[in-house]
Amino acid sequence: MKIIVTGGAGFIASHVVDEYIKAGHRVAVIDNLSKGFRRNVNPKATFYKADITDLAMMEKIFKKERPEMVNHHAAIAEVSQSMRDPIPTLTTNVLGTANVLLAFGQHGRGGVRRKFIFSSTGGAMYGDPKRIPVDERTAQDPLSPYGLSKKLAEDAIIFYAKQFGFDYFIFRYANVYGPRQNPHGEAGIVAIFGELMKGGKTPTIFGDGSKARDYVYVSDVAAANLTALKKGKNETVNIGRGIATTDREMFEAIAEAMDFGGKAKYAPYRKGEIYRISLNAAKARKILGWKPKMELKKGVREAVKGI
Ligand code: NAD
Repeated sequence: MKIIVTGGAGFIASHVVDEYIKAGHRVAVIDNLSKGFRRNVNPKATFYKADITDLAMMEKIFKKERPEMVNHHAAIAEVSQSMRDPIPTLTTNVLGTANVLLAFGQHGRGGVRRKFIFSSTGGAMYGDPKRIPVDERTAQDPLSPYGLSKKLAEDAIIFYAKQFGFDYFIFRYANVYGPRQNPHGEAGIVAIFGELMKGGKTPTIFGDGSKARDYVYVSDVAAANLTALKKGKNETVNIGRGIATTDREMFEAIAEAMDFGGKAKYAPYRKGEIYRISLNAAKARKILGWKPKMELKKGVREAVKGI
């Protein structure tokens, strides 16, 4: 199949591209390299350095490539940045998504069943849930413009899929970690702490260390994206391990993997961040047969190898 992957120079989607190419698909990557790196792009993929907020450019690329599938990962993916300066996040994640949808609807390959696969958030979609793990029926309640942008993007996808007559598949990821995660962002504890520890610097935990997230390894996420090419139609599914791991536990796991003997620094909580989440991924299991394979401590050791 011909598949366009947006954000394919970034962390998660570069692994998705690798899986697609390994499975024999033809892939074209669109990325503006604002956060991603050219070196992450599989050499067998066609690469377009382009911005998804540029509709004319999206139309040109889609007209040329005529994909059967789109896997849309390009986004500004930082909660804190979206709190400080929401418009870039909303522009890229909502209008950019609408551009990709329009380009696909108008110029995707005709005569075949087409599908739009999307990377939404489970971590920022459900607010601060009373009970965890949360399933997909939990009310959407974003607490940050980033979460809002993903909610609006999901709505746009469901709308345009119906308008143009293609299928959609929406993933709501937990906290993804693994090789190629950018250590210079505001999120991605394994990459950020790993990089600091390597330089002998002390990482900062925001809050008292009891804040908890559901960590899922990137190869498990890429595997779900591969299966979604074939299985699942017009569904929204969580991808997570259903286990809440605290910042303190993560600090310890990363310190162990990095052989770091120092202590963490503590700073106040950051605005817009939820306290505790984990995702129930029973639906992904039912629809895709998906099950996370990587255990956390092993995953952390794998993830820090390249640091
Ligand atoms: P990333 O920053 O590594 O990847 C995003 C890519 O999109 C980057 O390569 C960046 O250069 C590109 N990009 C950004 N704005 C663009 C634009 N306007 N036009 C073209 N390209 C643009 O982040 P990631 O962690 O790999 O996240 C990928 C996707 O998964 C995002 O949509 C994110 O919201 C979603 N997601 C990530 C996580 C996580 O834990 N990392 C969790 C839930 C959802």
